[in-house]
Amino acid sequence: MYEQINLLLVDDDALDRRATRRALRESGLDARIVETEDGDAAMRELRRGAFDCILLDYRLPGADGLEMLRAIRAAGITTPVIVLTGQGDEQLAVEIMKSGATDYLAKGRLSAEVLASSVRNALRIHRAEQQAAEAELQRREAQARLRQNERLLAITLKSIGDAVIATDERGCVTFMNAAAEHLTGWTAPEAIGHALDEVLPLADRASRARIDNLALHALRSTGALDTGRELLAHDRGGRIFPVVSSSAPIRSEDGAPVGVVVVLRDITERVRIEERLRFLADLSRLLASSLDYRQHLINLAQLAVPRLADWCAIDVRQSDNEIERVALACAHEADQSIALQPINPADDYGSAAVIRNGRTEYLRRITPEQLAKVTPDHRHFAEALDLISWISVPLQVRGESLGAISLGRTHGSPVFEMDDVAFAEELARRTAHAVDNALLYREAQEAIHTRDAFLSVAAHELKTPLTSMMGYAELLQRRLARSGELGERERRLVDVVNDQARRLNKMVIALFDLSRLQMGQLNIERRPIDLAALTTRIVEEVRPTLDRHTLQFTTEGAPIVISGDELRLEQVIQNLLQNAIKYSPEGGAIAIRVAQQNGWAILSVEDQGLGIPKEALPRIFRRFYRAANADAHQTSGMGVGLYVAQQIVDLHGGRVEVESTEGVGSTFTVWLPTA
Ligand code: ADP
Repeated sequence: MYEQINLLLVDDDALDRRATRRALRESGLDARIVETEDGDAAMRELRRGAFDCILLDYRLPGADGLEMLRAIRAAGITTPVIVLTGQGDEQLAVEIMKSGATDYLAKGRLSAEVLASSVRNALRIHRAEQQAAEAELQRREAQARLRQNERLLAITLKSIGDAVIATDERGCVTFMNAAAEHLTGWTAPEAIGHALDEVLPLADRASRARIDNLALHALRSTGALDTGRELLAHDRGGRIFPVVSSSAPIRSEDGAPVGVVVVLRDITERVRIEERLRFLADLSRLLASSLDYRQHLINLAQLAVPRLADWCAIDVRQSDNEIERVALACAHEADQSIALQPINPADDYGSAAVIRNGRTEYLRRITPEQLAKVTPDHRHFAEALDLISWISVPLQVRGESLGAISLGRTHGSPVFEMDDVAFAEELARRTAHAVDNALLYREAQEAIHTRDAFLSVAAHELKTPLTSMMGYAELLQRRLARSGELGERERRLVDVVNDQARRLNKMVIALFDLSRLQMGQLNIERRPIDLAALTTRIVEEVRPTLDRHTLQFTTEGAPIVISGDELRLEQVIQNLLQNAIKYSPEGGAIAIRVAQQNGWAILSVEDQGLGIPKEALPRIFRRFYRAANADAHQTSGMGVGLYVAQQIVDLHGGRVEVESTEGVGSTFTVWLPTA
């Protein structure tokens, strides 16, 4: 079975065309035939549609078949052409075949079989040619793609920052990209054929132990090996630096290892940044660990050597403008003796100048000219240490230089670079801040100490005249009451003098307690006390003095015995009760409860007064603290009572708690261990 064939028959002779048609019909070919009489018409047909085969008469009007054939091929038409000719001529046949015809048939011997076999043959050859052309096209495309991939790989290997080195199965270098040349210090042509171990000796970063045959290890592994392993590399110039490496075997199609590819990245910069961050973290920890600024500076100097410098000194300006060296650290023990002392504040270089000007001094590479300008002592110091690079940064707070941190690197270390200067300035900034805090703290402590000392003296000085004043006022009061010599008005005045003297006395006593507490001299004399009875007595004494407040006292009836100081506990209860009264200016009920629970005696005083602002609650037991409610209602007081009360309860092994809502009221609860 053959498919239908599209045939173009080009012949000017109608009889010949008929004969050809008949032969085709008889041949059994399923052919659709388009007939044309001359070359032009034939070209038009060829342009219009696709034909499987052309039957071309050699003798055409105007042009011969040979010209026509050449025109067809010139037009890029590859359709097989069978030339039909009247006479047989060997010479012509060769000419026709050379010009691109597929076959050559003599019209005279044109039988159905000959024609059919020629057409079939022409079609088969044409198809084979087409397939070959297609295969060739595909091969070319594949080659182009391969070349493209090779170019891409080459560009990738060239442009990535990572060093890529390939080796053969013996671990000898076969390929190296530009980054690998840079990293190792070898050029690719030099390195190729040499063992990887020779081109780039490697060691473990942590243990510094040499790593032999990295490539061969990778070769034997099953997959990617050592991804992200941190190593130390040794380049051709002797530089030792950290790298991160990944390696994997290269396998042939049958899976056999034929080499290794190792990817390496220089991580010097990353490691440096990590070390700096760790340094800052360590510094922050040290600075936070104490409030002694000298200790800060000593710690800093020790931290800086050898991580940042080989030599570090910290100088501080004293109140008399002299400069004191507070800290010194050296990488080499022997250098400790070569301290740069004393420092002349007038020097126009080094820490003296830095402190004076508040500006960093940076000598990247110390030159003989620079050394020529310093004093012989300092020159000797620099030479003895073999100093090569220097940074001195001011320790500044609020625009003032407290001192300077000086750092030196000695022969064998790299010189300081700009980023080291920036880092040193950052260190100085943080340290200065901590030093400032420590100094402020010290000042605050001193101020508190002065205040406490003053209060103690004031309490003592006030006590004596006040005691005698009180004594005489009371005497006067009694005498006047007995004699009845004075009128009602004068008697009231004397009462006022008495009351005020007593009030003043209470304040002085509170201050006394405070200074006793400060000095740890407030002592508790323990005796068994019935807290219920004590509270009952106090409530009964206070009740008659109140007109706007009512006291509601609840207790379980049974004694609640604790071991404590009766006078001091009375002071606590009085304080809570007087506060409840004082901070309920509108009057109202005050509930006092005494109970016993799980080994604790519990005393609570609840008022319906002003209440305490929420933000003040954590502070009301501090010395001298008074909440906004006290100010707002101009309630008198010193902010000492609750502090003393809490300390007394504390000395009894108990605790005081407060619950309060502004505008609703407060409840103070004292817990004391029962005896
Ligand atoms: P003072 O009463 O002399 O100011 P305290 O030490 O006794 O000192 O009390 C500290 C502060 O606590 C008071 O200034 C006041 O703001 C608040 N405070 C104490 N008790 C009460 C209370 N019952 N109600 C409201 N505020 C209170």
